[in-house]
Amino acid sequence: MRDLPSVPDLHQAEPIPQTARDAIAEMLITADLFRYTSENSPVALLETEFAEKLGARFALAVSSCSAALFLSLKALDLPKDARVLIPAFTFAAVPSAVVHAGCVPVLVDVAANYRVDIADLEAKAADADAVLISHMRGHTSDMDAIVRIARAHDLPLIEDAAHSLGTTWNGQNIGTIGDIGCFSFQSYKMLNAGEGGILITDDPDLIARTVIMSGAYEHNWQKHAVLADHVTRWQNQLPLYNMRMQNIAAAVIRPQLELLDARVTRGRANHDYVADKLNAHQVFDVPPPLRGELRAPDSIQFNLLDLSDDQVDLFQNTSKALGIPVQVFGRSTDNARAFWNWQFLDDIPSLPQTRAMLARACDVRLPVRLERDELDLVSDVVLSAANAVI
Ligand SMILES: *Cc1c(COP(=O)(O)O)cnc(C)c1O
Repeated sequence: MRDLPSVPDLHQAEPIPQTARDAIAEMLITADLFRYTSENSPVALLETEFAEKLGARFALAVSSCSAALFLSLKALDLPKDARVLIPAFTFAAVPSAVVHAGCVPVLVDVAANYRVDIADLEAKAADADAVLISHMRGHTSDMDAIVRIARAHDLPLIEDAAHSLGTTWNGQNIGTIGDIGCFSFQSYKMLNAGEGGILITDDPDLIARTVIMSGAYEHNWQKHAVLADHVTRWQNQLPLYNMRMQNIAAAVIRPQLELLDARVTRGRANHDYVADKLNAHQVFDVPPPLRGELRAPDSIQFNLLDLSDDQVDLFQNTSKALGIPVQVFGRSTDNARAFWNWQFLDDIPSLPQTRAMLARACDVRLPVRLERDELDLVSDVVLSAANAVI
């Protein structure tokens, strides 16, 4: 019997499946932890399984999604100081990966529904060298328009799908629409390995270049499902950044991959259940998915309507005091998703539309494991915090 529910800890992770724990116990005895020690290592198997699951030709597992984004940009062989369009609403790691790759992030405005402002993207495309679309918090922007604009300007398109594993756009997996898709296995994502990332692509040349740069020194590329003639032309031509995944991370992820579909279904049902409750209150607006978008949420975002800054801050503090930390992206100190805090950039634009959205957009984790009574408790806290400020 379950105990009477109390307000759930929204940062508590799910246990790692027993099969993973068994595989790791054995691995610790053989100490076979490096992906290139053996032929079909857990990392290589993860790559095959992940590519198959998403419907991509190739996959490369790496140390983080940030590493995957960095390697993707390097693989595109862009000119020095290339201008890379990114949404102004994303995590600081994304502009950081662009800077790390020797490129310049150009921030594109984001609308009140958290999606890329297509008119602003179009206006900035003529002067850009690449597009990196971050599907922030799993919100899919209009990918038909983005692909059209990228093609019209001959711009390579990278998808940051860190938070979109399991999301589809017109039936197609997010991460397979652009030239490269990047995913994260950090603990707050759908599959939890603590840290880790993976990139997928159908392009044999891009995978060859990322494989080498990820640290496949000498002839270790032979332990990848890559095409030999595409790799040999890059042999000894590229730097080795050593961003490999190690076998324990792969062993933690592989059994979770089988649970993905169930987690996605559950996460979506949980999200929509809470969204309905919040939307019934005058203070909240949970933007609906776009047409064509089938989401895989493990968190919920919503806007606060017609509140002053003081009321917003009081709402944030009240919900926290009641046990549910609601973050307002643009009102919490040093928030890594508020673009004005990316002070490592040379040029931070004003972007009033994105700024206004961030000042009212709330973020609540909604782990897929939550039961209905726990979702009720979360919703009740958020609703009573709203009632306390109006
Ligand atoms: C988590 C996240 C990242 C960074 O992923 P890491 O694996 O921690 O590097 C990048 N973009 C988005 C949208 C994310 O949610």
